[in-house]
Amino acid sequence: MSNKPWLKHYPAEISPNLDYEEISLQQMLKNTAEKYPEKIAIHFNGKELTYRELYESALRFAGYLKMIGIEKGDRVAIMLPNTPQSFISFYGILFAGGIVVQTNPMYTEREIAFQMKDSGAKTIIALDILYPRIMKVKKETDLKHIIVAKIKEYLPFPKNVVYPFIQKKQYGISVKVEHRGDTHLFSNIMKGPMMDDPLIKVNFKEDIAILQYTGGTTGFPKGVMLTHQNLASNTRMCVEWLYKLKEGEEVILGALPLFHVYGMTTVMILSIMQGNKVVLIPKPTPDLLLKTIQSQRPTVFPGAPTMYIGLINYPDIEKYDLSSIDSCISGSAPLPVEVQNKFEQLTGGKLVEGYGLTETSPVTHANLLWDGKRVKGSIGIPWPDTDAEIRSLETDEPLPPGEVGELVIRGPQVMKGYWNRPEETKQTLKDGWLYTGDMGYMDEEGYFYIVDRKKDMIIASGFNIYPREIEEVFYEHPAVQEVVVVGVPDPYRGETVKAFIVLKEGAKATEEEFNEFARKHLAAYKVPRLYEFRDELPKTTVGKILRRQLVEEEKKKQQQL
Ligand code: AMP
Repeated sequence: MSNKPWLKHYPAEISPNLDYEEISLQQMLKNTAEKYPEKIAIHFNGKELTYRELYESALRFAGYLKMIGIEKGDRVAIMLPNTPQSFISFYGILFAGGIVVQTNPMYTEREIAFQMKDSGAKTIIALDILYPRIMKVKKETDLKHIIVAKIKEYLPFPKNVVYPFIQKKQYGISVKVEHRGDTHLFSNIMKGPMMDDPLIKVNFKEDIAILQYTGGTTGFPKGVMLTHQNLASNTRMCVEWLYKLKEGEEVILGALPLFHVYGMTTVMILSIMQGNKVVLIPKPTPDLLLKTIQSQRPTVFPGAPTMYIGLINYPDIEKYDLSSIDSCISGSAPLPVEVQNKFEQLTGGKLVEGYGLTETSPVTHANLLWDGKRVKGSIGIPWPDTDAEIRSLETDEPLPPGEVGELVIRGPQVMKGYWNRPEETKQTLKDGWLYTGDMGYMDEEGYFYIVDRKKDMIIASGFNIYPREIEEVFYEHPAVQEVVVVGVPDPYRGETVKAFIVLKEGAKATEEEFNEFARKHLAAYKVPRLYEFRDELPKTTVGKILRRQLVEEEKKKQQQL
């Protein structure tokens, strides 16, 4: 048997080995803008930006960054929801020679401070509503400049479409932005001159384009260094996989957050590589998704299972015309088979499951969309130039088909390493193989299946949540003696966060108090939805808390319901 049994399933249209054009991501935008200057690059609530406009805006942005002192290799953070400004700052930073640091707009002060310190970012681009949060921690960080995008310009949606990080009462108001040396307005930058000599020649294999933060296999947030090669090659593989896409003609639904690696590659880079149009939406509520699909007729819809689940369960779904949807790859969490079936019936398009992680830019596996074998419940087969093995946790040897071990990956999309963390890099990357921390198996046919995560990461509604980070916050509460946070199955969110707490002797604290405390220190999606107070926690003989036992108890409880 070949050690790559999946190759026999490749249809003729997909080549297992690709040629990669060694050009930077910013060169890709320049080329596309020259080829399709008047094609629409971005549609955002009725407003459109052509490729020429996007390119010129990115050059204005780059020129400004240069003027405030950004040099090659400097880190520049973007803390924006999906807006045209996300694209402009992303490519602008690259034209200026900077490294993009993606920052989740839901981060609290504590999370912002950690990421800014760790990355050493000198500049951040943010919505004005996030400005006070950044100013509170600025002193602790190396941040010198804040570029502010005014919320009034970027809140074009009806009031019921609420950004996750903005409360309803904040709509329509503008945060006061102080006019001082360290604060700059995005709108003013767009009136300024373009950079005349953009930095487009880069070392394709070595230069870092992005620092993408993730807990990876060990839990604590780290910056994944993704090079131009990593991102461009993964996007090229995606174009090969979706071989029916027509350059310059597709409409991509930009529903995934662009600050996450999955949205970054499959929306923000894929569209630029092919000269396609992106229809951006800031928050994928079923209502907005359906209205946008009906009016904008996107053909490609990369998403997470929660989005597809939300759609198929929408009460009046049959009233909407979803027939434009042709191809969808679902990633980031397992895709239930019923969801896949129902979604395909509704749209007439294909929805297949894929798999990946931040460390692989992100996609490594997917099912075939049109011709060839699709296995429901499987993450599919490795992409071109991507090698995968299942290795024994004990011996590190490859295991035969059917046996469960750790999934390891090799390919041009595998990260350069973790930013400033050589030890963690060594543990994760060995001889060019990336150890994913996911447990799974391969069948005789070369299809892969994920059965569990070695790491303890929780995935709720497509967001990664790292128990250790939440536990550390709770440990700061004076009433807490011991705490463990686990993910428990949830029919809608996939998993939901539950905290088991042992109180200090004589201490009193309620669920409400913990909830309030957690809300102060953590982004909303990390705040536990469930609490349980216990006298003690199950432990091993050396005192390690038996996390999995708690998860199993929860699963059993749910089965009995
Ligand atoms: P991230 O680094 O945020 O992209 O998260 C990567 C993790 O998401 C992987 O290591 C997996 O644990 C999980 N994941 C991604 N896709 C799937 C899938 N199709 N099925 C199960 N788990 C997945």
